[in-house]
Parts: sequence; structure tokens; C-alpha cells
Amino acid sequence: MDLPVDEWKSYVFQKWSLLPKSIQVTISTAETLSDIFLHSSLLLQPEDEMFLQNLSRGYLVEKDPNAPLFYREEGNKKFQQKDYMGATVLYSKGISHSRPHTADISLCYANRSAALFHLGQHEMCLKDIMRAQMHGYPERLQPKMMLRKAECLVTLGRRQEASQTISDLESSFAAKPTLAAAQFQILQTNLCRLKMKAQEKESLTETFPAALTKALEDMDLKGENGQVPSASSSVSLRTDPLRGRYLVATKDILPGELLVKEDAFVSVLHPGEMPPLRHLESKWDTRVTNGDLYCHRCLDHTLATVPCDGCSYAKYCSHDCMQQAWDLYHSVECSLGGLLLTLGVFCHIALRSTLVARFEDASNVIRKLCGEIRNKDTCSPERETLVQTLTCDLGGESENKGKMLEPPVPGCDLNGKYESNYNAVFHLLPHTGNHSPEHRFLCALSVSALCRRLEAASCYKPAAAVPPGSGSELDVWGVAMLKHVLQLQCNAQAITTIQHTGSKENSVTNSRQVRLATGIFPVISLLNHSCSPNTSVSFISTVATVRASQQIEKGQEILHCYGPHQSRMRAAERQQKLRSQYFFDCSCAACQNEKHSAATGPRWEAFCCRSCGALMQGDDVLICGSTSCTESVSRDHLISRLQDLQQQVGMARKLLRNDKPERAIQLLLGCQRDAQSFLSGEHSLVGEMEDDLAQAYAALGDWQKSATHLQKSLRVVEVRHGPSSVEMGHELFKLAQLFFNGFAIPEALNTIQKAEKVLMVHYGPWNDEIQELQKMKSCLLDLPPIPAGPSVQGPNVFFQ
Ligand SMILES: [Zn+2]
Ligand SMILES: [Zn+2]
Ligand SMILES: [Zn+2]
Ligand SMILES: [Zn+2]
Repeated sequence: MDLPVDEWKSYVFQKWSLLPKSIQVTISTAETLSDIFLHSSLLLQPEDEMFLQNLSRGYLVEKDPNAPLFYREEGNKKFQQKDYMGATVLYSKGISHSRPHTADISLCYANRSAALFHLGQHEMCLKDIMRAQMHGYPERLQPKMMLRKAECLVTLGRRQEASQTISDLESSFAAKPTLAAAQFQILQTNLCRLKMKAQEKESLTETFPAALTKALEDMDLKGENGQVPSASSSVSLRTDPLRGRYLVATKDILPGELLVKEDAFVSVLHPGEMPPLRHLESKWDTRVTNGDLYCHRCLDHTLATVPCDGCSYAKYCSHDCMQQAWDLYHSVECSLGGLLLTLGVFCHIALRSTLVARFEDASNVIRKLCGEIRNKDTCSPERETLVQTLTCDLGGESENKGKMLEPPVPGCDLNGKYESNYNAVFHLLPHTGNHSPEHRFLCALSVSALCRRLEAASCYKPAAAVPPGSGSELDVWGVAMLKHVLQLQCNAQAITTIQHTGSKENSVTNSRQVRLATGIFPVISLLNHSCSPNTSVSFISTVATVRASQQIEKGQEILHCYGPHQSRMRAAERQQKLRSQYFFDCSCAACQNEKHSAATGPRWEAFCCRSCGALMQGDDVLICGSTSCTESVSRDHLISRLQDLQQQVGMARKLLRNDKPERAIQLLLGCQRDAQSFLSGEHSLVGEMEDDLAQAYAALGDWQKSATHLQKSLRVVEVRHGPSSVEMGHELFKLAQLFFNGFAIPEALNTIQKAEKVLMVHYGPWNDEIQELQKMKSCLLDLPPIPAGPSVQGPNVFFQ
């Protein structure tokens, strides 16, 4: 997904392998990115572009005039089945394929407003009603929608608007005697009902403020950092030849302290792990992806997306986000949807970065790039003019022209300030020499193809001073984009969100981290890696926050995990991953320790002896660790037993999903007996089985048994991830829900407190789970004393 699709990859690799040796050598030994780019782009032939274009056509990114009706009808089916969520998404798909000011778009908006109404999303419903009207909703259908509008306004306590809408309705009835009698009567009855409701509703209920804006405002850094404005004053930027640029603590830092708060320079939403339509039989796609549920600009979750007027793939949470995206980058990207999906997220981010850079003073950066290109080429007068034109275009002549000082730390401005801007992005390391020649060729050719399309779409009209057809302006952009594509391998940051799963009846939610988007964060890129980091990163919208996950002493380096975490991978696997993706050998504390530790491997993967229960040791043949025991067994045998067990557990989960908890429990208890004979008690699968059992008992309403199993799972999680890890926080959250539902008040309060403490360190106070914990707490504290005991009547309202 980050890189181009496999078909294009193998096509380019094939092309590379067929190149004459001399050309391969020229490109492989090229010293600068501009050489690599210019040499490669000369090799891009029309047939290559044609091949790429055919691949791009596999994605449905344009508006299809026949799609709205299809999606609306599919949505109506879901609506009739009372699956309002499913209906909403399908209507959204219909909307995204409709042209503005057509019957299609207004009908889809109106239908979606009805689905949103049933979901209790009254604010969103009102917005959709407004949109339906704006796009010309048919007059004859108006009364029904106006009733819905009045009902929303009443529910929201907006009395004045409600009575206005009601009186408008009344006068429109009076003016329309043609309305069929039966229909008229239904509307009249509804109107009466609504009027009564409006009168009952005396007080104005508070409309919810934009919680998100508040969350971000409330999340302030402790003291301003003059050098790195997105970081707190508790850290400072350093540089040395071995570690490069890095951040250190300037004072003792407590767990949970906010160290960095940075908005992504750019971010690109992942379209989701769905194959393009060419692999499908149906022309239209009714599957739901992240692209349907999250704003393509701000990444907020939304059910009521607003599409781009020009394409079907870009969808936003609001008209504002759509307009901002259009002004910043989408006006150029709009027609390139299929190509960008084919070339992958890195190419997309590279393009978007250069587009966003147009709005900054990037003149120094561009001058540097042009200089690079000019030096390598014969210095033509056209190029000279181009440099000037581009510098002008990109923020005007700098006052410092001619007396450019090299700033002390790369990426800083002349005053030594490191900001989250294009200058900083530009100075992230591309590690050009570490990428294989084939990979560099793939990236260069992909970027060249992108440049040709930009040129064909005349997205970059050559400035008047540049002779037409010279194409040099595009070369500068091409080199910049190639640099970004190569940088991203080491500097891309996954933007994640916590998704909650769990059926509505089963009030215990599971949470899992999912990758939503990829972004560039120049300040977070300053952090070096550790397999056991001292920070934790989380996201609200496109803003990343880095918090201390443990105490950090003054002078210690601030470290972040690039992915291979010690609680998820063995040392050898981590080293391999870090070497191939990030080009370094990790020597963090965790890696050092593991080098010297025993041959048993991590405890969550350990096997135990079937006769004495001690841990088994060794590689191909495992021997019992107890000196008084002679048991031995081959690893292959144990691995195949483990695989069998995993399969059984998978079947139990399927039963659980299909609402058959009793049968799932039976199967899981059998699995547990099997596991005891060869897995360590702290094996991750043993923990997962306890978690599954907890879920199954919760589904049956047996909170006590459920809690007992969850506590066992909690112990395994603690061994693996540590007592204050984010994983532990999520488990404690689940346990708190169980005690809450079982009205085990002291246990619930105690667990809520523990969960809050752990989650606060990683997420800060605005995390959803923390908010829910606080609601639970106040609910429990307000309760009149009642005898504890199992109850299925738990206040499920908090768990959806
Ligand atoms: Zn948005
Ligand atoms: Zn568009
Ligand atoms: Zn390490
Ligand atoms: Zn033994």
C-alpha cells in the first residue's frame, strides 16, 4: 500500500533487468537524486505510461452516473431491514457518485438524513436535510422531510427554529389542497404530535460543543520551546555524528507528561485493504472501508461524508474540510485518483508535500534543489531564469539571497528554529545510498510518470519566462518528490486510531489499534528508535502527541519505537526489520539485554515440559529446563501442536461471533486443557483464550465468571507488556466494564482508578476510554447503596 501495486513493481523491475548494463551502471552509480531522476525519466516510454494508465483504470474514482440509483436502492434495502448504519454508508456512496445539483444527490442526502435520524444523530440529520434542499430536493417530497427537520429541532431543544418549521409546514399544507387526502391526514397527525412534543420540551438542552476542538485546545504543552515550537520546554534538540539529530530531556520528566504535540505536515488516508474493483464481479462496491468513514483531510470519524464535486473517492466530514483540501492540494490531485492509488501512499504523500509547500516560503529549499540540477547539467540561461521564476513563485525573493548561511542543525531556519514545515521535511534523510538500485529506479520512474500526468493535465503551467516545452520546472518537482518517496521509508509515521469491536448485546468492547493514515511529522522524526521506548504516541485527528510513558531523567534521550517493539518481536526479528527498513543495527537497552539472556526466548512464546511443567530450552530440540527431568521434544512437533490449537481457538471465536457462547465455552475449555500440557502459563495464546472465555461469559451475562477469566488474561498481558503499558490499560478498561455491569461496586471503582491511571499516561485526559471510565465512576458514586450481585440489567447505555 505504501509502495506501488505489485503489477507496476514487477513491470518496472523487468524493465530494469532488460536495460543495457551501461545504463544500469550510470543510474546505480549516480551521485545525486537529480541524476537518478533525470536519467530514469528519460527511460519512461509511452507504452510504460499506457501500462500504468490501464492499471489506474481498475479503480473506481470517477463519478459514475449510474451508481447513485444503485447505491440508493441498496441503501433502502438496509433501511428496511433497520440496518441504519449500513444504509447510511450506502447512501454516502451514492452521494459521492452524484453530481452537484441533481435529483440523485438530493435524494441520497434526504434518505441519509432519515437513516441518521434513526441513529439518533440529529445534528447530522439536520445538515443532510439542508444539503438535500441546497441540491434541489423535489417539492412534492418536501413535507415529509420538513417534519423530520422539526422533529430533530424539537429533540435538540431548538424551540424557536422548531416552531418556525412547524408553522411553515402548516402554511404549506394550507396552500396545497391537491395533497392526497390520506397523505394529508398522516402529515396532520404527525404535526399535532410534534406540536405537543415541542410544548413539553421546556428547557433548552445544551447542544454539544465541538468536543474535538476543545480537546486539542486543552492539550497544551508545558512551557514553550523556543527552538522546537511543537515540543515542550522539557526537551531540547541536539545533534551528534553518531545519533544524528535527537531530543533529550532538559529536566526530570514524569510519566504522562506531554512532550510533543505536532500536526502532520501532510497526511494521506489509507483507502483500506480492499482489492481494486477489477478483481470483483460487480461493477460497484458495497463494502465499507476507512475511506467511507473517515474525513480524507482531518481524519475525523464521520457517518455523513460530503464528497468532492469532481470525483467519487475524496470524501470529507464537512464542506469546510472539502474546501480546505481543494485549496491546498485536491484541485491538483482530483483527476489523479486512480494513478495515486496505483503508485501507492508514499508517492501520494510526496506529491501532496510539494503541493502544500507552495504555500510556504520554501525558496531556500527550491534554490538548493535547482542548484543541484543546474550544477549537473550544462548551465543554460533557461535554467537560470527558471530558478528565479520558481523562487519567486514559491514565496518571493528571500532577503538573505547571496549571503545564505548554513544553519547549525539541518532543517532549522537561519535563527536555529526547527519548525514543522517544508524546510524541515526537506531535510529528513532519504538514505539514497541504502536503497537498492532497482528500488530507486522504481521510485524515480513512478515519480516521472506522475510528473508526465501533471504536465498533461497542465497542473504546472510553465511560467512565462521559461521557454515552452523545456519541462524544467517539472524536473525540480520531480526531484523533490523522489526525495520524499525515499525519505518516507524511514520517516513515514503511521497514524493510528483505536477501533472498538464487540456486539451491542455484549457490553464488553474489545479495542484494537488500526492504521488509518500515513503522515509526515518532522518533529517526531527527530526521535530515535528504541525497542523499549520511554514514550507513547497517540493521535487526535491529524495531531500526534508524544507522552512520556515512564520517568525520564534529565539528560536522557527521548526515544520512540518505530514498530519493532520488544513485547511484540524477538530481538533477531527486530534487528532484521530495523536493518532492512531503517538501515541501522539496534543497540537499545532491550536488544543488549536479550543478547545476554537465556535461550528460552520470551515467556509469551515459551513451551513447558509435559511431565514436570518447567520451561523447555533449546533450538531444534527442546530439553526440559529442570535438572531432574530428562524430557525432550522437537520444536517442529510443538509448533504443529500450537498451530492445531490456534485453529481450534479460531473456531471458538467464530462461534462467539455467531452468537453461540455456550459452544464457544465448551471448545475453549478443551483448548485450555490441551494448552496446559505444553504451553507456559504466560504464553500469549493462553492469555487470549482467557480473554475469549471472558467475552463468552459476558455474552451470557455471567459477569463474575467473565471477570475471573479476564483477570487471568490480565496477568499474561502484564508479563508481556508491563504493568503500565497501553495494552494493560485496554485490558483494565474491559475489566472495569465487567465489574460495572455486574454491580461489583468496590471492584469496579478500584479497577476504574487503575485503568484511568494507565490510560492517562498514554493518551491524556481526552481519550474516549478515559471519558467513559469517568462516566462509570460518577454513575457508581451516585448510586444508592444496593446489594451487589449478578445482574443483566447493567446500565449498558455507555457501551455501544
Ligand atoms: Zn474533516
Ligand atoms: Zn476530487
Ligand atoms: Zn532494540
Ligand atoms: Zn520436565
